Amino acid sequence: MNSSEATFSFEITTTAEGLARAGTITTAHGPIKTPCFIPVGTKATVKSVLPESMKALGAQALLANAYHLYLQPGADLLEEAGGLGRFMNWPGPTVTDSGGFQVLSLGVGFKKILAMDATTFRSDDVIADKKDRLAHVDQDGVTFKSHIDGSIHRFTPEISMQVQHQIGADIIFAFDECTTLHNTRKYQEAAVDRTSAWAKRCLEEHRRLTDMRKDHPYQALFGIIQGAQYEDLRRLAAKDLGSMSTSGISFDGFGIGGALDKRELGTIVSWVNQELPEGKPKHLLGIGAPEDLFIAVENGVDMFDCVLPSRIARTSAVFTMTGRFNLSNAPYRRQFAPIDDECDCYTCTNYTRAYLHHLFRSKEILAATLATIHNERFIVRLVEKMRQGLIDGTFSEIKNEFLAKYNIKRQNPD
Ligand SMILES: [Zn+2]
Repeated sequence: MNSSEATFSFEITTTAEGLARAGTITTAHGPIKTPCFIPVGTKATVKSVLPESMKALGAQALLANAYHLYLQPGADLLEEAGGLGRFMNWPGPTVTDSGGFQVLSLGVGFKKILAMDATTFRSDDVIADKKDRLAHVDQDGVTFKSHIDGSIHRFTPEISMQVQHQIGADIIFAFDECTTLHNTRKYQEAAVDRTSAWAKRCLEEHRRLTDMRKDHPYQALFGIIQGAQYEDLRRLAAKDLGSMSTSGISFDGFGIGGALDKRELGTIVSWVNQELPEGKPKHLLGIGAPEDLFIAVENGVDMFDCVLPSRIARTSAVFTMTGRFNLSNAPYRRQFAPIDDECDCYTCTNYTRAYLHHLFRSKEILAATLATIHNERFIVRLVEKMRQGLIDGTFSEIKNEFLAKYNIKRQNPD
């Protein structure tokens, strides 16, 4: 074990029913009380919102994207700036994802397919069909074209680790191959094998970089579990990465990634968490819809991240305890009430639906700021309530009460 390991730990403080639990992760930049929703600042900023506002709304940590920061402004620049947190004026814990998802989704252009529910057809060619194929996977890594200027780049497990060490987040992720529900079973098997080989290489490179950079705060490395919708592949991947140890180190935690059919979310997460070591944190990547968060927490997930609250806020869609609605729609023009009566955020404390409706209709940039503050607070607070519910033994009541009121059908498409 390396010398700076003491700066990362996870303590489970409450074990609830099934796999659910509450705990505290300790990082070099402070604690994260779990379960926890981590807002996304893809390019080292939560779009339109000051870090001080993110802190005030209860965000404990922020997640940025290694792929985007590598392309722009460059990982070396972040290192020179003193790391991600210092660069963006966020003193708390930070997280970066490995770039595996973005390299493949932006490169190949299957972003929309990844978000879709499972369908009956499976073809590995669907990804490239009629698209300019911008990413190529081989055994050693991924070659891809920048979505910014078309320049050619290559990520390998080693490069992903080097980039993430330069960026300097407290929690980083192993480089994985993210598949879609449209890949064939055979392709999913090959991707799980590749992700396993890459995980080992990430651990080795992470060990080398950690030893070489002892003057830097310790960065915790999480392995990513793939396997799509297949129970045997998910369990195999979880067992494999869960027990993986090389160069004297193992993963500090785990990410659950890849294609997930929303209807199977709880089942898939439970397969994985039954196999992974209990005492390590589990992060569900890219999930943020309220109804999904409850399912994930009761199946043992400790952390989430998702662009959903901020992305939909910029299109005027806001969460309330009764479901989502669009502020720019006509009915809200004269509603002099907060977005959500039950919300304690800065926006709901000070502004009305009518004012936000006006800002959106007149295309004022403050609209994005105020709506994002509300949506991020809504999700952060919902997960805070889940945590308290786990501690008090009232999680099921909170869940049932929320889902009875929260009308999923009221949602607008993203
Ligand atoms: Zn609010």
